[in-house]
Amino acid sequence: MTLSQDDKKILLDSIRDIPDFPKPGIVFKDITTLLNNAKAYKTLMDHLVARYKSYNLDAIAGIDARGFIFGAALARDLGIGFVPIRKKGKLPYTTVSEKYALEYGVDEVEVHIDAFAKDARVLMIDDLIATGGTANAAATLIERVGANCVEACFILSLDFLDGVKNLEKKTEVYSVIGLD
Ligand code: AMP
Repeated sequence: MTLSQDDKKILLDSIRDIPDFPKPGIVFKDITTLLNNAKAYKTLMDHLVARYKSYNLDAIAGIDARGFIFGAALARDLGIGFVPIRKKGKLPYTTVSEKYALEYGVDEVEVHIDAFAKDARVLMIDDLIATGGTANAAATLIERVGANCVEACFILSLDFLDGVKNLEKKTEVYSVIGLD
């Protein structure tokens, strides 16, 4: 199930472009204006619930930090648990961690070792996929702690980059809106 063109327009019109943030040349997709628009936020969440209610999911894994907002709301609506995948050093219990390359340097994400039941069917979610580095590391973490990442969901994908194509080697990928 995908979103109608009319509903896509409601979402796109609610997302704000911030040129040159956080550095020159990047157009930052600001989803705070979507969250603060009741009609757009409801349109999005109703769509995600309709799509995922038949997936027989056991948990939603949200990526730090904007993935928490959509993931936690979706988990609550589907009546399942929510697991945060966090940047290094934030989770208090024993973690498994995965490094990934940035344009300059490396970053690292972590998940609690006991976050999921064995073979749990997990949907991973974040606001946006660009190069796919973050999402690839997060999907690897889900598998490393013994769960099954059945799909990765993004509100936006930057389709002029290869993030989705690379992540598709690991899991199914759904982006609500692809940007060329
Ligand atoms: P990447 O690992 O390159 O796929 O980057 C994805 C992560 O960076 C996600 O958590 C996004 O929220 C954030 N991100 C990357 N590029 C943008 C952008 N142009 N606008 C908003 N967020 C972005």
